[in-house]
Amino acid sequence: MPDNVLEIKGITKKFGGLTALSKLDLEVEQGSIHAIIGPNGSGKTTFFNVITGLYVPDEGSVIFCGKDVTGTVPYKMARLGMGRTFQTIFLFKQMTVLENVLIGLQSESEYKLINNMIMTPKRQLYEKELHEKAYELLAFVGLYDQRNDIACNLPYGKQRLLEVARAMGINPKIILLDEPAAGMNPQETSELIERVKNIRNKYNMTVLIIEHDMKLVMQLADTITCLDHGSVIACGNPKIVTKDSKVVEAYLGI
Ligand code: ADP
Repeated sequence: MPDNVLEIKGITKKFGGLTALSKLDLEVEQGSIHAIIGPNGSGKTTFFNVITGLYVPDEGSVIFCGKDVTGTVPYKMARLGMGRTFQTIFLFKQMTVLENVLIGLQSESEYKLINNMIMTPKRQLYEKELHEKAYELLAFVGLYDQRNDIACNLPYGKQRLLEVARAMGINPKIILLDEPAAGMNPQETSELIERVKNIRNKYNMTVLIIEHDMKLVMQLADTITCLDHGSVIACGNPKIVTKDSKVVEAYLGI
């Protein structure tokens, strides 16, 4: 595994006449928690969409685990080991909490269970393993007791945690979290901080996180990158970046 799990080189993304990302470079170190901050409209979500293959950049490349994956479609990115959550929660709302995680686990499977309706011993064992993994992830995010609830009946903050569990189900090398604390109360936010730390410490995944809650960012991030108008204006140690005059002026001062 290279030192950098992700290397972004000269990414430009335009929407018609609007340049959302401009010659953007970024390196994400293996095993780090790396936060992306910046004012609304600075290009953070567009950046995630380019990294995960939802958008094809106009220029530049995305290098993941040493391999050029620019423009690879999202489901293939997921298979390569890129998990993500969305700013707007994306769940199968009428399914149970457990089913939402099982779906994430099955998509990594080499078995085509949906096409194989015969309950062979091999399939039975496989399903048992899937359930055990789903229970473990649900316990990890604190949703084991709600496993049989319908997803849309969960409070908003817990729906976000369910998305995290589902994204972890593909056993990603890197997980991209888009504003995971949005809609959470202070208690839920402090629990989220511990969980995100353990995504790295226990599951050994690299974390790239977009977040507005600076208290959370300062407690979690090893590195901060600040975007403004689609460009990196500062990157590095959190204590230094948050004192950078450009960052204070563009984001923290408002
Ligand atoms: P952030 O996540 O930092 O708030 P975004 O990445 O959502 O910023 O947006 C960056 C810029 O790109 C904004 O000016 C936004 O209006 C524009 N933008 C984002 N997505 C689209 C799109 N699909 N079509 C047109 N413009 C877009």
